[in-house]
Amino acid sequence: MSVHMLNIPVTRAAQSRISEVDFDHLQFGKTFSDHMFVVDYKDGAWQEPQVVPYGTMELSPATSSLHYGQAIFEGMKAYREESGDILLFRPLANLRRLNASAERLCMPELPEELFMQGLEQLLRVDADWVPIGKGRSLYIRPLMFATDDFIGVRPSLTYKFLIITGPVGAYYDVPVKVAVETTYVRSAEGGAGFAKAAGNYAAALYPTRRMQQQGYDQLIWTDAKEHKYVEESGTMNVMFVIDNVLVTPSLSTSILHGITRDSVLQVARDLGFKVEERKVSVEEVAQAYKAGKLQEAFGTGTAAIISQIALIHYNGEDMELPPVQERTISNAIGAELDKIRTAQAPDPHNWVYRLTL
Ligand SMILES: *Cc1c(COP(=O)(O)O)cnc(C)c1O
Repeated sequence: MSVHMLNIPVTRAAQSRISEVDFDHLQFGKTFSDHMFVVDYKDGAWQEPQVVPYGTMELSPATSSLHYGQAIFEGMKAYREESGDILLFRPLANLRRLNASAERLCMPELPEELFMQGLEQLLRVDADWVPIGKGRSLYIRPLMFATDDFIGVRPSLTYKFLIITGPVGAYYDVPVKVAVETTYVRSAEGGAGFAKAAGNYAAALYPTRRMQQQGYDQLIWTDAKEHKYVEESGTMNVMFVIDNVLVTPSLSTSILHGITRDSVLQVARDLGFKVEERKVSVEEVAQAYKAGKLQEAFGTGTAAIISQIALIHYNGEDMELPPVQERTISNAIGAELDKIRTAQAPDPHNWVYRLTL
């Protein structure tokens, strides 16, 4: 397949901000690299893409996404190898999901060449922002939102797609305490829970804060109909090890199709672990706990890869899980995935996308 090379002009920042950054004390989401990728959609087509200095944008108060929430995003990471090469992990999976989200919200599809060449151009310009060092990476946040200056309810005719990035430090991984949510829901089948839509996050804030006020870090979402089946943990997919089997809820329209989830399941199979994707009831988890068979529980997502769960609160009871050192299955999968992502292990599924500067 021949690749059509786009012309993506670069306007450089007058002065880099990189010398102001303390790479040893990075707080997630606060530090942004010097540049961003921007492209507008109008008249039924994507217009001229550009790389420009990271900075504020002017918006009309009637900007439709501010009113009706046509806004989606992605999250991915780039790693820096000692060689200087930049490594991306499954970027085309992020593009596929962005386009699945876009379709669900009546937004235009983003072509592969625009996404990949825009991303590459941005990473070349801001290569110095991709940190070298164990656990460090560049967080990449693509986003698309409706820009019509119109408050009638209909799909917008214009959109903006951007990619912003920022360096992040090693994720300080304290096992979390979670509580099973049986009042509120994140999403229902037939809704937009599978999409990375901004509104899903807005609606999750209140129930999450409520749980945090009760002393938990996160909640475990259950199904909208009966509150019987496990869906996700906070903003991560969730997995359990019960009697040496890795068990996770099967995908549906109400569950976000995590790329880490998919990768963890694949690596688990590659390592020879038994994997089951199916409905997982909270009752099953509680029964397994009582029988001493609940060995591990963790969330999966780009930010932490594997986020261990220390305790699950359900039905007035705290189920305390075994110490993290004893969690042989998730520890093995996490270590292997980390090696694949940083090109220190064979990559049998061609997940790593190498950018040589
Ligand atoms: C992004 C996200 C995930 C994790 O997806 P990854 O592709 O693994 O980062 C899980 N659940 C929700 C609700 C999310 O928004």
